[in-house]
Amino acid sequence: MNSTLFIEKAYIDGKFVHSEKTFPVINPATLLPLGHVPDLTVKDCQTAINAAENAWKQWQKTTIGERTTLVRKIFELINEYKTELAEIMTKECGKPLTESLVEVDYANSYMEWYAEEGKRTYGETIPALKEGTRLLTIKQGVGVVAAITPWNFPLAMITRKIAPALVAGCTVILKPASQTPFSAIALARLTEIAGLPKGVLNIITSTDSNGIGNELASNPAIRKISFTGSTKVGSILMQQAAGTIKRVSMELGGNAPFIVFDDADIDEAVKGAIAGKFRNAGQTCVAVNRFYVQRSIYQEFAQKLSAEVSKLRVGNGMENNIQVGPLINVKGLDKVKQHVADAVEKGAKIAFGGNPIKDLFFEPTILTDVSHDALIAKEETFGPVCALFPFETEEEAIRLANDTPFGLAAYFYSTNIYRCQRVSEQIESGMVGINTGMVSNASAPFGGVKQSGLGREGSSHGLSEYLEVKYLCFGT
Ligand code: NAP
Repeated sequence: MNSTLFIEKAYIDGKFVHSEKTFPVINPATLLPLGHVPDLTVKDCQTAINAAENAWKQWQKTTIGERTTLVRKIFELINEYKTELAEIMTKECGKPLTESLVEVDYANSYMEWYAEEGKRTYGETIPALKEGTRLLTIKQGVGVVAAITPWNFPLAMITRKIAPALVAGCTVILKPASQTPFSAIALARLTEIAGLPKGVLNIITSTDSNGIGNELASNPAIRKISFTGSTKVGSILMQQAAGTIKRVSMELGGNAPFIVFDDADIDEAVKGAIAGKFRNAGQTCVAVNRFYVQRSIYQEFAQKLSAEVSKLRVGNGMENNIQVGPLINVKGLDKVKQHVADAVEKGAKIAFGGNPIKDLFFEPTILTDVSHDALIAKEETFGPVCALFPFETEEEAIRLANDTPFGLAAYFYSTNIYRCQRVSEQIESGMVGINTGMVSNASAPFGGVKQSGLGREGSSHGLSEYLEVKYLCFGT
């Protein structure tokens, strides 16, 4: 690839490093190798941990002014290199270039926001109950942080962690997904250009996710682990982190419901459905998985949604006017096929699509009258498939929406303000979109309840995840 940011190396202690063993990164749209990166070992990971620990000694002493200025500089560089970053992203994860450009902006909004918010890590003065003491609190960075990120947002899932970590005074070892390491390495190059001291950010590329994950979760030098990915892996990491009582942040899987009440603006709901479902070919943690539509408007919504879905163009995201790219890999494609076949076997009708196209591409699909026993009702599909279920009453819709161990995002459409208040309070999820299919932004807390995770990213809550509160008691 012809880009100065396309680097086939990992990044440890301020150096781009090779290794004898490498692994290929496959472009899911062409199935051709995009490049190769080092397949690092647990020993390499320990070298990175030592580098981060050493760097922390100085980095924690820098002023908040120095740290936020550096993060602001990285923000400016990301803006400058936006097109190159977006091209790398599309080629490694398959999302359309227009979407990658949006992701670069979204990812960068965290750099910008935390470069400001970092300046407001205030402590408190506390009135003492008795004479003879002065009480106050200060906030300090937790220390060395490990971050593990998924492939579906190759840049944004990283900046959501490193921006608050850096301004808090933490150093970081990041292991990006092995399908999408190049966006992470490109970011490392920009932090180098910005002048981030060596060892403050380290990138480990490896196919040994079990070994590296275990090292990052159990090494006592690491004070916190922040993970975004599947609930299954999140649970393993929490168990591994328990031995050293690490702080954990877990951004895990979802199974988002999207309820359309009979008093909704149906055209707006269709627009929200397209936005909430088809980004990244349905491979987002906040993607709608279950559409619950009130019986009296069920047919009209299904027809209008089918009409819009039929306009979506599927293809290689580097081509013009593509809205839906490929699935990330064969495993992802097989899951989509399995969910569609299982739903049809249990009585669902195919209103649109329903078939693989070629390679890793799958038709945008609408299934109607899906059984509540179908796999698609219970598990994240992570693909371009809308499953529609009719319901009769508000109580039934809330019960169905909450009938899942997950609770990341939920959406509903209604024009009745009282219903909007009632339903939003009863939905069990960390985020609720009310008359919108898009919820995430840097100034708002992103995260889940139940098995969708612990902690929040974005907003001042996302910064608190990287700070310890220290209480100081002064005798007089
Ligand atoms: P994943 O399989 O859990 O992988 C995520 C990351 O964990 C990758 O870097 C992966 O490395 C690594 N990993 C895999 N096994 C590991 C282990 N045993 N120990 C330590 N690390 C391990 O998830 P994914 O398939 O990439 O991503 C999709 C999932 O992420 C979905 O469930 C989605 O909902 C969730 N997600 C959640 C959010 C959120 O904010 N809540 C955002 C985006 C995605 P390798 O790639 O090298 O295997």
